[in-house]
Amino acid sequence: MDGAKMFLAANGGYCAWFNPMSVGPSSNISPPVPAPWAVSRDSLVGRALPERSHAYRTEFQRDRARLIHCTSFRRLDGKTQVFLNGSGDHYRTRLTHTMEVASISRTVARALGLNEDLAECVALAHDLGHPPCGHRGEDELDRLLKGHGGFDHNAQSLRIVEVLEEKYPDFSGLNLTWEVREGIQKHARGYLHPLTGEQYPSPSLEAQITDMADEIAYSSHDLDDGLDAGLLDLESLSDIPLWQLACSQAEAEAPGFDVGRYRGFVIRCLVNMLVDDLVTQTARNLTTAGISTLDEVRRHPRRLAAFSPDTKSMLSGLRRHLFGSYYLHPLVSEANERAARLIAGLFGFLESNPECLGGKSRARISIDGLQRAIGDYISGMTDRYLARQHEDHIGVRVL
Ligand code: MG
Repeated sequence: MDGAKMFLAANGGYCAWFNPMSVGPSSNISPPVPAPWAVSRDSLVGRALPERSHAYRTEFQRDRARLIHCTSFRRLDGKTQVFLNGSGDHYRTRLTHTMEVASISRTVARALGLNEDLAECVALAHDLGHPPCGHRGEDELDRLLKGHGGFDHNAQSLRIVEVLEEKYPDFSGLNLTWEVREGIQKHARGYLHPLTGEQYPSPSLEAQITDMADEIAYSSHDLDDGLDAGLLDLESLSDIPLWQLACSQAEAEAPGFDVGRYRGFVIRCLVNMLVDDLVTQTARNLTTAGISTLDEVRRHPRRLAAFSPDTKSMLSGLRRHLFGSYYLHPLVSEANERAARLIAGLFGFLESNPECLGGKSRARISIDGLQRAIGDYISGMTDRYLARQHEDHIGVRVL
């Protein structure tokens, strides 16, 4: 019997207030110590436009506040993750997904001695540019903007924080630190250091672990939502090695528990396993590559934040299952196709009737061209607003 169970048994199985540290294991829990490869105050590039520092907040704490107070962040609540927004009260939205990514990012950052506030900022910003109606919405906007630069949600996230958010009288965008902007450029082929002019292949570790935290979050919560919606079933998952492992872990912690009733407990074990694996393998990679500074992280040709080969392979197996059984399920894909038609219909209408664009987007036509202004306008909409605009202008209710 482990310490916690002995403690509970000795106290009649229940204790009103309980400090887990009193029964351990606590050997791995220590105050955060910045690692030499972390982004630190000394290495900070900072902001493109000069601003006075704050009396008691760090630059990344200020960036976090700028992100959670911006309009695009609030709209994440009305944007689809997998299910069209409003089809169920407890399915994930882009906002709850973002909060899960931020939570996992902070955990991993702390375990590796990284800058937690920076990792959280990158997580909070990472999906700001997602259009309504999920990935199908993104594909459709990309198709409609062919010949006009296309559409990519990562590039759009950066455009939002650099250009489109209007809050400060002295500048466009949020004037975030370079480090947060570096992290938002998720799939960039290379980076340019703004102070030294050096080109380098990899972003900070804070950005890298947030990218992995995104994968942990969507893999686990899509599984949870798919089961909840009845589009995935426990029987078909029993052949998936990563699910089997998570079930074994859950069974070891709570022998005989009912998987059907407490599948969230298995999902929790899955997240724990993936986070542990990411921390362990990334630490191993740092040692193997002999990394001892932030510059070495950035100059390293490959990403150092990674899962172990076994976990990576098992996670790919789970992703394949999710694709085949969930993302491509007729109920999901038919809704996605309806949403794509809705985006295409509204896009075409606005091309012919630009006076119907919102005021801020209309003002950008002379700067960016009509199609980009429409792309910005539609991609900023929530699922609900898109449907309402379609109904108002085209007179057809689609969602
Ligand atoms: Mg994401």
